Amino acid sequence: MPSAVPAVEYRIRLSNPGAHLFAVSCTVRAPDPAGQIFRLPAWIPGSYMIRDFARNIVTLRAECAGHACAVEKLDKQSWRVAPTPAGEALTLHYEVYAWDLSVRSAHLDDSHGFFNGTSVFVAVEGHTEAPCEVIIERPEGAPFRGWRLITALPPAVGRAGGAAGCRFGRFRARDYDELIDHPVEMGEFTLARFEAAGVPHDIALTGRHDCDLDRLCADLERICAWQIDLFGAPAPVDYYLFLTMVVGDGYGGLEHRASTALLCARDELPWKGMEGLPDGYKSFLGLCSHEYFHTWNVKRIKPAAFTPYDLTRENHTRLLWAFEGFTSYYDDLALVRSGVIGVEDYLGLLAKTVSNVMRGSGRLKQSVADSSFDAWTKYYRQDENAPNAVVSYYAKGALIALALDLQLRAGSEGRCSLDDVMRKLWADHGQTGVGVAEDGIYHAVREVGGAVLGKRLARWLQQAVEGTDDLPLERLLKGFGVELAVEPASTAPGLGLKLAPGDSEARIANVYDGGPAQRAGLSAGDVLIALDGLKLTAKGLETQLKRRRPGDRVELHAFRRDELKVFQVELAEPPADKYVLKLAARSGERAVALRKGWLGA
Ligand SMILES: [Zn+2]
Repeated sequence: MPSAVPAVEYRIRLSNPGAHLFAVSCTVRAPDPAGQIFRLPAWIPGSYMIRDFARNIVTLRAECAGHACAVEKLDKQSWRVAPTPAGEALTLHYEVYAWDLSVRSAHLDDSHGFFNGTSVFVAVEGHTEAPCEVIIERPEGAPFRGWRLITALPPAVGRAGGAAGCRFGRFRARDYDELIDHPVEMGEFTLARFEAAGVPHDIALTGRHDCDLDRLCADLERICAWQIDLFGAPAPVDYYLFLTMVVGDGYGGLEHRASTALLCARDELPWKGMEGLPDGYKSFLGLCSHEYFHTWNVKRIKPAAFTPYDLTRENHTRLLWAFEGFTSYYDDLALVRSGVIGVEDYLGLLAKTVSNVMRGSGRLKQSVADSSFDAWTKYYRQDENAPNAVVSYYAKGALIALALDLQLRAGSEGRCSLDDVMRKLWADHGQTGVGVAEDGIYHAVREVGGAVLGKRLARWLQQAVEGTDDLPLERLLKGFGVELAVEPASTAPGLGLKLAPGDSEARIANVYDGGPAQRAGLSAGDVLIALDGLKLTAKGLETQLKRRRPGDRVELHAFRRDELKVFQVELAEPPADKYVLKLAARSGERAVALRKGWLGA
């Protein structure tokens, strides 16, 4: 049993699942005599956007020695309770509305409950460094009889994933930061276990599914074992949990120190008798691999700007290209290097990333360093103009990682690689807890590459990260026996726009810079209704365009709001924006050897 009453103790229970309410209390043994302040985070680490979780607090009151206490709201997310008698514990009671089916927040109904600590646990000012405990109450009544609980948060007695398993009850965290870094799932989920490098890993699936768990565990085990081996055993955790919510259509993942919360579409999971490796499953494995890689890269190797996090406001860093971009490079790379997918499948995935980056002119206007810094207001808050204004620090960051890896390998005849940079970051930062300075990645590259190569590549990297030039991928890949080509995705002449998803209404989602649609005055939000007098649907647009040639002029009728407008548009060449990667028919011995070092085959 716990030896002493904890300084801070939380209690959480289902208050009203039908109304999506959790009831939470927070008891402080020795509150601030000047008035105790409580705060709920404005954002959740890993998702760089202000979300103001306090907006979901419905009722709130404070109590001390059986009496109600006055509570003053200080700002959008902080409360101060009036001074309380010395020697008396103070309890804050509040209800949290939980109806956001995402990996970032909390969700509760009569089928399951899920929460991130950032949505439900207030920080107690002055006590955030102290150990704390939380009691998660088992819900009463017949509908909840089959419910279990799973989290990587260690129980007060024993350890996470230990023999006690799947029980409600008392849990313990070393500090507030740990408390909020272990999402919790409760309900009737499916659970499967595998071991990687001797460490137990659980995968929990909530929601209807027909997943072939043996297949999933076998693939995940290879991916996890490969990553542990990359950084060097032992693994940084002694237990890991993939928490997965299965829905008809959805996608998302958020990393935590010993677990990840995932949202996936049912069809992406493998099923018994599945043949080959469908794209959806490849994408789900890529997601798992991505979040797992974060166990090292961002959860332990962290930007100095995140040590510690300030959860009350935006935390700016220009380094997300390294923490998200490098992670995005390694997520798919781990699939091929661990043998879960083949080289051609891998080149297909890589080609998609290249196409994604090259499609938007935002890449010519924003550097990945700027994109990282402005993630809060730009990457995470994309509007219709995003392709023209924003570059993804995920996708372009992954290509920078690729270009850096290839140059390290080619320049050292395969003696060093980006793997060595990651291991250096792990040794210097991950294992020491020292944050990575804003220029820290350049330094690591310089040291790993040595006096000549390292110095040159550190300079190259800085330019790639802080500039907007396209990367010399074609030339670099050629040295590894891989050909990069670009072709039009369709034979239809180009209009320079993208329609919103769906087959019926032809609503414009994006208008690309400098294209025919923009020149003719069409805008995002316009609904195309006719082309040369013939009715248009989203599905029919391409069919009609295919019957015309570049240079043809067409008349488009469109509604802007409720006003009918007519546009004369001159069609362009089909855009060459589909990148294709394939093994060169003939490559020299050196290229083959380098590729073997890079992809393992
Ligand atoms: Zn990520």
